[in-house]
Amino acid sequence: MGSAKAPPRRLIDRVLGQDRVKAIIGADLRAGRLTHALLLSGPAGVGKQVVARAVAQALLCSTSHPSGWGCGGCRDCQEVEAGTHPDCHWLEAAAGQRLGIDELRGWVQSVVALRPVRGGSRVGVLVGADRATEAGQNMLLKSLEEPPASTTWILVTESPAGLLPTIRSRCQHVTLGVLPVHEVAEWLKAQGVKAEVAATAARLSGGRPGVAWDLSQPEAAARRNLVVDWVLALREATATELFRQAEEWAEAPDLPARLEILALCLRDLTVLTGPRDVVAGEDEFQAGALLVPELVQRQSGMGGARRGRIRDGRPRDPAAARAFLALAEQADGLARRAGQLGSPRLSLDALFLDLRSAWHKCAGSSSG
Ligand SMILES: [Zn+2]
Repeated sequence: MGSAKAPPRRLIDRVLGQDRVKAIIGADLRAGRLTHALLLSGPAGVGKQVVARAVAQALLCSTSHPSGWGCGGCRDCQEVEAGTHPDCHWLEAAAGQRLGIDELRGWVQSVVALRPVRGGSRVGVLVGADRATEAGQNMLLKSLEEPPASTTWILVTESPAGLLPTIRSRCQHVTLGVLPVHEVAEWLKAQGVKAEVAATAARLSGGRPGVAWDLSQPEAAARRNLVVDWVLALREATATELFRQAEEWAEAPDLPARLEILALCLRDLTVLTGPRDVVAGEDEFQAGALLVPELVQRQSGMGGARRGRIRDGRPRDPAAARAFLALAEQADGLARRAGQLGSPRLSLDALFLDLRSAWHKCAGSSSG
């Protein structure tokens, strides 16, 4: 195992890739014209929160570093990184939870009520901004429309569509994207992850370093095997087995993570069984192909011939493919809402039953 290098001092230097984002925001910082309301969006695990904290570091650094991004070493920079800076106010929606108006008002007040403690700027960062209720977003809108002096708001979200259009139009919107898989693998190796683990985790993450990091940890490999085994076993499962699994999943503390992997498997099955155009776009096709080799390897009857068809991109079981894709979206949605559901049991029953039906559709079509 390689030894991990010490991380760079400045937070922005720890963000992998995202050169366009760094260039846009960096130019504004150097010119002293950064917007008072910044919206950072992009998929989970690409570095949105590190960028948000790096912008806070840039704004609160007590030295005037020529890069515009702060020095990374002064007391202010270190406190921003540690999350203890008195002028950096961070609010994050808990997993699967909504942010109500009271919680948001308390946070806005903490940002604007007093003068900046250190006499410079103050920064309010809202992570999971789309999960603010409509009333909460309307309250926040007032602060964005009439920005208090030397205050910068940073909204972070995976789904900007979940924000009021009026909020979006008040913000400068910067989007972070996924990275080439090989870059993510190289980065994991530099963090001390074994080469073969790094390669698999990077591929499975679809180019998202944060997700790849989680997947490279030992417990993630066990979870992935558990989910893949169940997806394949479900094809022959009895109703009793199916409901017992749903019950076990419903109680599992890692349910959202299991559902995310399940969604990946289902996207793979879409690719495996369907014509290319069933899958929304090229990116999604790539993302969907993540588990294909593993599924093919582990599933007798889905061997070479079918794999050849996938490469050809020729139609195959389009009805089953559509069913798998719909189930993938269902699993994704369930993963996002898992914390909000009183009990996910009924949703899991339905999901597993539908998945078994999709398998049967697929089997029926290929035997014909
Ligand atoms: Zn500094």
